[in-house]
Amino acid sequence: MIILRLAIPSPLRRLFDYLPPSDEDNADLEPGIRLLVPFGKRDVIGILVEVSDTSDFAINKLKRAKKRLDTTPPLPQHLFKLARWAASYYQHPEGDALQQAIPVLLRKGHACEHQHETLWRSKEGATISQLKANALRQRELLTLILEHPQGISEDAIRAEGGNTQSLSALEKKSLVESFHREHKLAIENILHEAPLTLNPEQQTTLAQINKHEGFSVSLIEGITGSGKTEIYLQAIEKALRAGKQALILVPEIGLTPQTVSRFKKRFGVPIAILHSNLTDRQRLDAWLQAREGIARIVIGTRSAIFTPLKTPGIIIIDEEHDPSFKQQDGFRYSARDLSVMRARSENTPVILGSATPSLETLHNAVEGRYQWLKMTQRAGNSAPPAFKLLDIRQEKLSEGLSNQLVTAIGQHLNAGTQVLVFLNRRGYSPTLSCNDCGWIADCTRCDAHMTLHKSPPHLHCHHCDKQQGIPQRCPECNSDQIQPVGVGTERSEQALQNLFPDFPVIRVDRDSTQRKDAMHDIMNQVNTGAPCILVGTQMLAKGHHFPKVTLVAIINADSGLFSADFRGMERTAQLILQVAGRAGRADHPGTVMMQTYHADHPILQTLVEHGYSAFAQEELHNRRIAQLPPYTHYALLRAETTTQYRAESFLGALRQQLEDDMLLPHGVHWIGPFPSPMEKRAGMHRAQLMIYAENRKALHQLLANLCWYLEQNKEARKVRWSIDVDPADTF
Ligand SMILES: [Zn+2]
Ligand SMILES: [Zn+2]
Ligand SMILES: [Zn+2]
Repeated sequence: MIILRLAIPSPLRRLFDYLPPSDEDNADLEPGIRLLVPFGKRDVIGILVEVSDTSDFAINKLKRAKKRLDTTPPLPQHLFKLARWAASYYQHPEGDALQQAIPVLLRKGHACEHQHETLWRSKEGATISQLKANALRQRELLTLILEHPQGISEDAIRAEGGNTQSLSALEKKSLVESFHREHKLAIENILHEAPLTLNPEQQTTLAQINKHEGFSVSLIEGITGSGKTEIYLQAIEKALRAGKQALILVPEIGLTPQTVSRFKKRFGVPIAILHSNLTDRQRLDAWLQAREGIARIVIGTRSAIFTPLKTPGIIIIDEEHDPSFKQQDGFRYSARDLSVMRARSENTPVILGSATPSLETLHNAVEGRYQWLKMTQRAGNSAPPAFKLLDIRQEKLSEGLSNQLVTAIGQHLNAGTQVLVFLNRRGYSPTLSCNDCGWIADCTRCDAHMTLHKSPPHLHCHHCDKQQGIPQRCPECNSDQIQPVGVGTERSEQALQNLFPDFPVIRVDRDSTQRKDAMHDIMNQVNTGAPCILVGTQMLAKGHHFPKVTLVAIINADSGLFSADFRGMERTAQLILQVAGRAGRADHPGTVMMQTYHADHPILQTLVEHGYSAFAQEELHNRRIAQLPPYTHYALLRAETTTQYRAESFLGALRQQLEDDMLLPHGVHWIGPFPSPMEKRAGMHRAQLMIYAENRKALHQLLANLCWYLEQNKEARKVRWSIDVDPADTF
């Protein structure tokens, strides 16, 4: 008896038993292959997890799989195992997790192979003279084909005015033939350009990485400008020379043409780039090229962690602290943490790099689990930026800007350099309010104010995307005294343009860069080096280099200091340093001016005076005292309902039930339930329960119990619940 146990894309955390498509063809039923199976009223793609000879269900009740879709599994066994492990670790249904580990077209049942493009070429010895003088169309077409010895596609032929009749006429005369382009391994030159000369600190760092054979985890904690990327490039070069491949993960916002061009300039080998603008077909092709070893370097964002490599050589996670490495919904995995698991199973080194490492990673380095490599010198001759805190408690700000700051901006522009103004709020102003009665433009679906935009004019909720017109009069008291409150990037842009009419002001935020080439145009303008003001959100802070910027102004630096999220402080520090790192990158020394209402805040002072390392040590100390991660392990059980209080009371009852049934292992603790920091969002009322334990095993035992419990529970079907293991934020 052969029973196939399949993972099916369904919210249920269990596997499903099927009979094989036929009793004869049962050879090589390898775990990981896809099968088309009936499920409820539909046909779905299931993934084989194991073959068994028994089932808990009556054999005559089992359905037969309809069709086998693969001869060999799309994912290599160790990645298949990694995805299964991740499903269990992150408490996510296995069927869905396995689907997310493969490209969209494979989830839809497409064949796991390259698209075969038909090309045409001339046969040996074919010449125009073999055609009659009056066969004009055929002569033209043959000329065209002769001009393309590598082959030309039918689309291209039609675009050049050729037609199918002429083509088949030429084929009949044995002058041309069709063929499929082969994807073949072609390694010509590994390097396009010579590597840079390393300074002594870089040499030591690279030597430390290279001294390990096989699996090792290295944290490169290197200040901005210390030349981390050059270390990556030379570590990759070593892998390539050994005939291996490299996988590089970058933050979502960091996968810019600048990043890509640096790799393309250095290396002569094929590079697969998994960016968000690829079509499903292009993505599958890039994925296959990585799997077949054709692409030697793979660069992508979070989901690229599941890209198979034929000859894995090294994994690099750039900006490892970036929250985008953790998926925030559905399958809530951390690509950074999985990269360490993956490197271990593939026996390769993994490098985690950042100027501002996450406290989790730092903790691992402090404990000696990761090799800790510090780079504290700027490569080249550039000096690190000087920090200045601007105490604005007593100041009257004009459009969010203090006098001191405006003066400094003017000085830098007049000296012929560029200025970057950072403001982490897009739109014109964070909200609109009535001077007479105090009404505020709130979103009806969220516990949040609506952002005012002026171009085009509208109110916009940045949490649920609701948009509406701007009222002319106050909806409460009918007064016409309604005014924008606070400053966003649009308003700042306008204010700066009024203050400095002789200099261009360039806004960089999600709204101003929607057009496809917008960012490219902005960079071209900035790269001319002419004095200008860049004003924008964290889009400015990541992935882009502005060598001519000498002043970085941070407008609302302290907005994250008192966040309800225990990571608020860490995120604020990372963002400040990242923005600061944009100043003075080449031969211009830089200044960073930060406006703050908390100039005497000890943590802010540590950060500014002693740098990120000192800050991180203090913050780790605070976390230890407060029993927060990385000293404990956290999970968040979230629930949301359309009715107020319902989510909270559901979690309360659940907690009580688990305590009564003594399903709470020793050493596991609860906090809550309490309403989420933003209780209402997109019309849903939300609550959460924090669960933590010093011992990871104990936590996972509880989470497994909890999932089992919730799946049986009738009440649980009336709420939307989810579990987030190692949550990146607590909202
Ligand atoms: Zn009013
Ligand atoms: Zn908006
Ligand atoms: Zn909203």
